[in-house]
Amino acid sequence: ATPTAVTCGTAIMTRLGIITRRSGVFEKLPKIQHVVFDKTGTLTLGSLSISDVELTADWSETAVLAHIAALESGSLHPIAKAFAAHFNGAITVSHRQSVVGNGLSGTIDGLEYRVGSQQFVNGTNDVEASTIVWFSQGHTLLAKITLNDEVRPETAQAVTQLKKMGCKISIASGDNSTEVAALGQRLGIDDVHKGLSPKDKLALIDKFQQQGQVAMFGDGINDAPVLAGANLSIAMGSGAAISKNSADIILLGDNLSRFADAVKVAKSTGRIIK
Ligand code: ADP
Ligand code: MG
Repeated sequence: ATPTAVTCGTAIMTRLGIITRRSGVFEKLPKIQHVVFDKTGTLTLGSLSISDVELTADWSETAVLAHIAALESGSLHPIAKAFAAHFNGAITVSHRQSVVGNGLSGTIDGLEYRVGSQQFVNGTNDVEASTIVWFSQGHTLLAKITLNDEVRPETAQAVTQLKKMGCKISIASGDNSTEVAALGQRLGIDDVHKGLSPKDKLALIDKFQQQGQVAMFGDGINDAPVLAGANLSIAMGSGAAISKNSADIILLGDNLSRFADAVKVAKSTGRIIK
């Protein structure tokens, strides 16, 4: 592309509310054939709330939530925010380790705790109806917490718009609940992949990229390596700085429709030039 075309493309994108630090992005946009969405924080708002706490040992709900909040403090995952209100500052965590797409472990008063997916916490992997976070001390399961999220208001329209332009759409989620498929059904997305580790997501993107040009959308927190592997990567605007740096495009105001608008403009501009 000539420098003029890049400047022009960048100007159009700025007007549409999407920003990029990379050149060539506006030229890549019309070539996209397949759009892959992460779920939590991307198709959904990622403002999760606790809807149920099932205690499985002799712990109070207050103690469970305070311990999880302590483990999750400092985590940028949308799940961490759901527990933030229960943080009391009295619990000290050491040896905190974060396993991307799985959860966290840490030591409190000399004991090891885990919070995260069922696979991460107890090694099994049942499909459940909603997003569940498991909490354990050593091999003892202490609680199962059900979380609720909301679909972004503009998601359905953005998906419809992209489909109209001939884009194939997929969901690639780390969540292992039936909610992933239910969300796909609600949005008219048939190709739904759940329970994926960041590595699995990357392998899926690679497979798709053998068929055509792929754009990957991530919340920008856990998806940095996946975003880096896609032909074109887009991070939601409120995501963490780390993947803002690795993404080709950042959507300002987290508005998915703006991407569809940009593809439309890029496609029509491309047609005029040809
Ligand atoms: P998605 O692809 O839907 O955005 P992620 O890959 O971010 O999901 O996470 C996959 C799963 O890993 C979550 O559903 C949750 O069970 C677990 N998980 C990831 N990060 C955390 C965390 N900080 N605390 C608790 N659980 C987590
Ligand atoms: Mg995510």
